[in-house]
Amino acid sequence: MEIKTLKQFADQINNTVPARRKLAHTHLAGKGTDKEALAVLKQTIDAINDIPRNGNKLRLQLEQSGEIMETEANYEIDELNKDFYFFREGEKQFINYLAGIHEDFDDQLIEGLRFLNGIEITNFITDRDGTVNNYCARYNTSVQSAYNAIFLSHFSYTVKNAVLVTSAPLKNKGVTDISVFPDNTFILAGSKGREYMDLHGNEGNFPINQQQQEILNTLSEKLHDLIQQPDYAIFFRIGSGLQIKFGQITIARQDINNTITKDQSEHFLEKIRSIVKEVDPQDQHLRIEDTGLDIEITLTTPLDGSKGVKDYDKGDGISFLNDSLSLELEKGNNLVCGDTESDIPMLEKCMEINPQTKAIFVTTDNELINSVSHICPNSIFVNTPDILITLLNQKAKEKL
Ligand SMILES: [Mg+2]
Repeated sequence: MEIKTLKQFADQINNTVPARRKLAHTHLAGKGTDKEALAVLKQTIDAINDIPRNGNKLRLQLEQSGEIMETEANYEIDELNKDFYFFREGEKQFINYLAGIHEDFDDQLIEGLRFLNGIEITNFITDRDGTVNNYCARYNTSVQSAYNAIFLSHFSYTVKNAVLVTSAPLKNKGVTDISVFPDNTFILAGSKGREYMDLHGNEGNFPINQQQQEILNTLSEKLHDLIQQPDYAIFFRIGSGLQIKFGQITIARQDINNTITKDQSEHFLEKIRSIVKEVDPQDQHLRIEDTGLDIEITLTTPLDGSKGVKDYDKGDGISFLNDSLSLELEKGNNLVCGDTESDIPMLEKCMEINPQTKAIFVTTDNELINSVSHICPNSIFVNTPDILITLLNQKAKEKL
């Protein structure tokens, strides 16, 4: 297996999904390590090691233009190595390894166990990226690690409902495609909770009116066509890539490594604006928000008349999920986990529904720490997703 292009790289990473699923399933079923699946991970690690580099950046070709681009792939590489280590050395050694690479690991783990001591969590509501999953610079290849699925599954067995709420889409290169959880562990909710898949594989979504859905469909076709063109193919491969969500489309115009030149990125933004104008000439249905990295195109809320008075947020997602899945968030002790401002509405909604809610946020940002503590006095903070998932795993082990 030789990796020359960015597409081959993404394909190889995505090909680890079945192997990682198998590893997680087999381990959780108490049947040890699936040797064949582990060999797939090893082959992938070896193939990535053979890619030419400049410092810690991989040099890969863009398949459409043949142009070489340099890209960091820390998440993909680190997580593969961690998975390999986990299955070769076992859980205990692996946790020691995590303690060695993360500052304050042991202290925060002990503080976390104390925080959860004597409490049975009823509902576990969590964000994905940066919270229970290490942050990946590229959405397309942010495949969940098997060790991560194992730790989180252990915790899911001890709660009534475990719900993962992400802003990424549910399907079609969505959270269901990059997750390696066994069935019957997590309810997966995409597009900020607007669409979900329950433990039995049933899907549901927050209704969108038909006319608006058609406009969004036309737009997504046009964007798919656009990124087939050599000049624009790169935008599919960087940062958030192209994500067709429920009621929203995200397309990257830059990534955190500034892979794209400023001019090229501005030009792309104008190109997107003109395409949006084509499908919605009167600016009635779509609203564009530009974060500098991502262009978010959202449907305006049909009822409010004036455009975009309120965006659908994860708090709306929680209300919708609570009603449609009968989570009964009003009962018991709930734990909410997040890592950014966009998770705040989810915490607020959970507090409103049930003041017994506790929070663990993965952040060192003082402003965020203040707002979380203000909304939810019963909260603690950890530095990295690895600490949080190890904490949840340890907590589960006490009970199981
Ligand atoms: Mg996040």
